[in-house]
Amino acid sequence: MSFNKDFRVAIVGGGICGLACAVYLLRAGIHVDLFESASRFKEIGAGVELGPNAVRALDFLGLTEAILAHASPSKPETRPFRFISALAGHQFIHDYETLPEDLGLGIHRPAFIDALAGLIDPSIIHFNKRCVSVTKHDDPGRGASIIHFADGTTVEAEVVLGADGIRSTVRRTVTEQHDATRVVFTRTVAYRAMLPLEDILQAGVQIDFSRWPHNLVGVNKHIIIFPIKNGKIINFVIFYTDKSIPEGTEIPGSQWVTSASTQELLEAFDDCGPEVKKILSLIEKPSKWAIHSVDPPLEKFSRGSVALIGDAAHGMCPHLGAGVGQGLEDVRVICELLTHP
Ligand SMILES: Cc1cc2nc3c(=O)[nH]c(=O)nc-3n(C[C@H](O)[C@H](O)[C@H](O)COP(=O)(O)OP(=O)(O)OC[C@H]3O[C@@H](n4cnc5c(N)ncnc54)[C@H](O)[C@@H]3O)c2cc1C
Repeated sequence: MSFNKDFRVAIVGGGICGLACAVYLLRAGIHVDLFESASRFKEIGAGVELGPNAVRALDFLGLTEAILAHASPSKPETRPFRFISALAGHQFIHDYETLPEDLGLGIHRPAFIDALAGLIDPSIIHFNKRCVSVTKHDDPGRGASIIHFADGTTVEAEVVLGADGIRSTVRRTVTEQHDATRVVFTRTVAYRAMLPLEDILQAGVQIDFSRWPHNLVGVNKHIIIFPIKNGKIINFVIFYTDKSIPEGTEIPGSQWVTSASTQELLEAFDDCGPEVKKILSLIEKPSKWAIHSVDPPLEKFSRGSVALIGDAAHGMCPHLGAGVGQGLEDVRVICELLTHP
């Protein structure tokens, strides 16, 4: 096969950012391979809200049509978040001034991954490949990096893109740190749930969540809410920050995602108004995420020809559901650089 450039790109990590990058580079005639630690592509069964910046990045990458073919609605139509108090009275707080074309999209995550994976030549995907380190080739003339995998194999590539998420291994090569001290527990947990709109209406909730994203704001807590599947399903990400937890508290990796009860939610949001309580009463066994961030932010996202994209570069609190959008902007920039004539 002939390629348009004389370098090989290895992408480590097949989440949304790694996959989007692979599709674009492949279409541009670049020699690219993607290495994913899992045995298949997978995303959790939750929604993801893409803001107008994410939609613009998808447009640039030529991915919007394929994503929309897997999504409902069939075009971006959500405005940015509308802010309402979570406390009794549910006062209106703020609405962004936006241009009519500033539209976003709520989508089910597995559909997003399916759309991207469907665009990739399977021969460039390598599953069960957990990167453990990236080193420089002994022979400087080769100019390549060597990617080492947990199964003892290695691969060489001139460009390595770390798209391996917040617990990135590639980040160590960029920062030259040999531990993961930059990933800190934010003392915030996020409970995730999806509910049919019908159930919400039946419970007597008055705020209309079927069309636009909302942010119900309380004290050290807030709930981001957005419609997916043509507004038939409403996605909730419920944030609670416990400032009594000492800063620097560590959560073992195995406990980053656990499950919780309706009772726990109701207790945490006890000071909130009736709309919030009606919603939380409907949520059974939400998943509970210990939110971590890369903190302080990295001073640089690349070292030589090894670069980071997505959460590997800037994992942050998803308070306004912006991580994918920011990651797709990284993908756009790195793709523009790598395909520059
Ligand atoms: C509760 C919650 C709600 C959120 N809601 C939103 C939202 O509504 N909108 C939004 O834009 N963002 C949201 N985010 C943030 C968003 O999920 C992330 O920013 C985004 O998924 C990051 O994508 P990524 O491709 O960089 O990393 P990931 O999705 O983490 O993908 C990393 C991939 O790399 C693989 N991998 C990891 N280590 C290795 C290794 N050593 N070798 C090989 N492969 C490896 C993993 O298996 C995975 O497939 C939310 C986050 C949370 C926690």
